[in-house]
This record gives sequence, structure tokens and C-alpha cells, in this order.
Amino acid sequence: MTIQNIIFLLVVLAGFGLFAWQVRKIRANISHGRDRDMSGDVGERLKKTLLVAFGQQKMFKRITPALLHLIVYVGFLVINIEVIEIVIDGLFNTHRILGFTGGFYNALTATNEILSALVIIAVAAFWWRRNRTEPVRRFRGTEMRAWPKLDANLILYIEAALMVALFLMNTADLKLHQVENAYLPGAYPISGLLTGLLPDNATTLLVLERLGWWVHIVGILLFLNYLPSSKHFHIIMAFPNVYFSRLMPQGQFSNVDSITHEVKAMMDPTYQVPTPPASEGAEAAPTTFGAKDVNDLAWTNLLHAYSCTECGRCTSVCPANLTGKLLSPRKIIMDTRDRMEEKYNSPLIFDPALYGPAAKHEPQEQLDKENHTLLRGYVTPEELWACTTCNACVEACPVNINPLESIIEMRRFLVLEESAAPNSLNVMFSNIENNGAPWAFSPSDRFNWADELYVAEK
Ligand code: SF4
Ligand code: SF4
Repeated sequence: MTIQNIIFLLVVLAGFGLFAWQVRKIRANISHGRDRDMSGDVGERLKKTLLVAFGQQKMFKRITPALLHLIVYVGFLVINIEVIEIVIDGLFNTHRILGFTGGFYNALTATNEILSALVIIAVAAFWWRRNRTEPVRRFRGTEMRAWPKLDANLILYIEAALMVALFLMNTADLKLHQVENAYLPGAYPISGLLTGLLPDNATTLLVLERLGWWVHIVGILLFLNYLPSSKHFHIIMAFPNVYFSRLMPQGQFSNVDSITHEVKAMMDPTYQVPTPPASEGAEAAPTTFGAKDVNDLAWTNLLHAYSCTECGRCTSVCPANLTGKLLSPRKIIMDTRDRMEEKYNSPLIFDPALYGPAAKHEPQEQLDKENHTLLRGYVTPEELWACTTCNACVEACPVNINPLESIIEMRRFLVLEESAAPNSLNVMFSNIENNGAPWAFSPSDRFNWADELYVAEK
């Protein structure tokens, strides 16, 4: 083993070790959420994962960004095969170890080069869509300032830099072999066009090839460790998130069991409220109705927060947002992640919570200590009550995130724990309580409308 192999081994171990450590912290954050049984329906869940996560099914509602995204996604998958080769070469002092596969290697390297060039073009197009004077509307939300904007651009710069390093490595390698009249396995349609840009000196070419090789692999390891701080973490989390998608019909709300029992007992005096299973020795933990903070949400809602691509497709179809209300479903999801990282473990490189609500959003009410929770600290009741529960955001999300669930849980908290519903809802609640219907009419008047329909018999 050479000194270079040993350094490489240490770099790879540090890169993957650090990433595993960060993933453990994120796993701990998500496990603070309420328990929810998502086992079962394995076949249906795998089908959804194949279609929506691997197959990008929901992306194709908008063809231009879908094609650009597809290039970057397929490029990411194919380039990963090359990363395996780089790691083997780095550890065992080999050079282009997969070259023995002949035709397969030619196809692999050629595909890799073409995709890498397309990735650079796609990245430039993404950058233009975000940064031109009038960016695409969904990138203009108030929650997209400060860190989220910087993060989105950093990802594009890093991806472009990784591709440039790959071309430097391939071009220098190709030219070095040409200068030395030696055979290089693989096919290089783009690098073959670039060899004229490099000098003919073998030593310089070797240095450039090594430079490209090291920058490419170290860049990938650094990028891997940047992911947990970034919206780009969705390239990993989208898969479990889609697997654990909600399979209930979209319009169906979950019930609060204790309230259901209470209502049933009111309607039917013979109804027996089931006794909760006795917890051995310990008193049952007091339950909060709805969600005030991140730990009151289900773990799947917290998983959503790490899977969000911040694409804004949800916000761009939200009728409340489109009519100028404060609500943005994307912001609800981003706030959940920020609050989780503020309350529990924060990421290694950039801590989005440092930017705080004041940096990211419009000025909000002054946050005192008690109110510094997800509800009120980040999300205001005004945002929550603007939701029409139409499910458009759920339908639009390319990775099956459900912002509505979190909105409903926070509304439940406002109604059931704080009696802080808007006046129109409070009127409806008391009508239901007193009249058994949402309207302010006595039950005895319920059929008055039919009086006019009476036709006397002849
Ligand atoms: S469910 Fe609510 S948040 Fe989602 S799109 Fe409809 S109004 Fe907007
Ligand atoms: S919730 Fe879904 S649609 Fe909304 S920004 Fe995140 S990934 Fe995009």
C-alpha cells in the first residue's frame, strides 16, 4: 500500500464516517415524532416507491423542469458507478479497474461523459430559472430568501464543479495516454474534443489527471456531508418518504380516538368507552390534542421535512397562496425542519436555524420563550386558518409530502387546547352543540322549508 492509498483510505473513512454520524443525528430528530404504525401494505408501498421515487412519475406534470431534473437524476445514478471504480482504484492502487469489461466500460464512460455535459447544461438552466431578474414564480416565496436561496445556488455550483473535475481527469488521462502512445480503456466523446486544450508535457498531464481525480472524489465526499444541511438531502430521503406515503384516500382525516368515543357515548348512552391498555406500573403519558411543537407531530411528518426539495410546487397550486394569503405549504414543511434542528440536533456544516424566522420570513410577532415552538414561533395561526384543506399541495408534491396533515394537527391544537378558533368557526361549533347542525336554527324548525312544498289534496 502506498502513502497515497493510505491517505485515500483515511479520506474515504472520514467522509463516510462523518456522514453516518450526521444520519444518526437526523434519525434521532425524526424519532422525536409521535409513533405511527406504517407497517404493512408492503407491495403497494414498493410500487409507489418505484413509480414516484425511482420513476419520477409526478415530476412529469411540467415537462421542462422534469427533463432537466431527469438529466441530473440519471447523471447522478450513472456517475455513482464511476465512483465505485474511483474508490477501488484509490484503495488498491489500480487504474480504471473496470476497464476489463471492454464494451460495457466503453458504454459506461461514454454515457458518463455525455450525461456530465448535459448536467452542466441543466445546472446552467436551473441557475438561470432561479436567478434571472424575474425568476420562476415558485422560487420567489418569502421563505426562499437567505439560506434556502444560497443553498439552492451552492448545490448548482458544486454539481458543476464536480463535472468539470471529471472532465479534467478524463481529458488529462486521455491525452497522457496519447502522448505516451499507450492504450486507455473506455470511450471519451467529450474529453476527446478537449485534449487540444491541454499541454503535451507528460508530467503536467499526470498532475492534472491526479488533480481532477482527487477534486472529484473529495468533492463528492464533501458534498455527501453537505447534504444533511441542505434541501438536496432529498436525493436520499425521498425514497423512504415515498415508501411511507399515506395510503388513505386524500380527503380522509384521521380521528382523535378519545373524542370519537366521547361523541359516541353522547349519542348512545349504551356505548361502552374502551378502556386503554394498562401500562405496567407507569401512568399513561398525558396526550396533547393536536400539535404545538414538532414532537407533537407524527414521525412521518418529520420525515417529510427532511425530504422536501423546496421546489414550491405545493405553494404554486395552493389557492390560499394564489389569492394573496399568508399560507405557503412549502414554508410549513421548511419551518418544521428548522424547528426540529433548533430544538434537537442541528446539521454539521450550516445550521439553518441560525438564520432564524426573522431572517427567512416576513417579520412575525415577537417570540417569547414560551411561544417559541413550531406553532407561533414559526407558523402563525393566520397561515393555518388560510388553508382550504383542498389537498392540492399533497397532489402536487413530487415526493408525496403531505403539508395538510401538519396544518390540521396545528389547527387541532388551536381548537382543542386553546379554544382559539376564528369566530366564524366558534359560532358553527356552538350551533352544532346546541342545534345538532352548523346553522343557527332550532331542530324543531328543521323542516320549515318543506312547508312551501305542501300541496293540498283536491
Ligand atoms: S390543502 Fe391547504 S395548504 Fe394545501 S393547497 Fe389546499 S389550501 Fe393550500
Ligand atoms: S412539500 Fe413537496 S411540493 Fe412542496 S416544496 Fe417540498 S417537495 Fe416541493
